Amino acid sequence: MSPDSPRFIVDFMLGKLARNLRLLGFDTVYIRHLNRKDILTRTLEGGRILLTRAHSFPRRSDIYIIETDEPLEQTREVVKVFNLSPRPFTRCAVCNLPIEKVNKEDVKEKVPPHVFKTQNEFGRCKECGRIYWKGTHYEHISEMIGKIMG
Ligand SMILES: [Zn+2]
Repeated sequence: MSPDSPRFIVDFMLGKLARNLRLLGFDTVYIRHLNRKDILTRTLEGGRILLTRAHSFPRRSDIYIIETDEPLEQTREVVKVFNLSPRPFTRCAVCNLPIEKVNKEDVKEKVPPHVFKTQNEFGRCKECGRIYWKGTHYEHISEMIGKIMG
């Protein structure tokens, strides 16, 4: 991902879209509340693009109104409109922070034994400690990318 890839802020109606964008590696803040003024301030101060379904937001270049209904369609819409190149497994889906590579030995106690046996590459979120590896989760995301890009 190039350093100038857009960063997003996603409003409360689009939680699944926010998660998908993070899984694809894009910096995405998810706002759970309704305070419109606060959302606009955070969009501007963070240099982010607001993704929303609410047509009542002002028309600005940093606000994009999502047109589709289904989360996968919405994800595809954003990837297409902003011409994004996915970098899966680089960002925690929960915390929106970059995932760090960790040594296999360091996660031995933290992943199921069959995962430890069959996987060699692991990443960890510094914030929540969640461990990521290229197992079933990866297949799920690869499938999602296939649908989005295909
Ligand atoms: Zn995390």
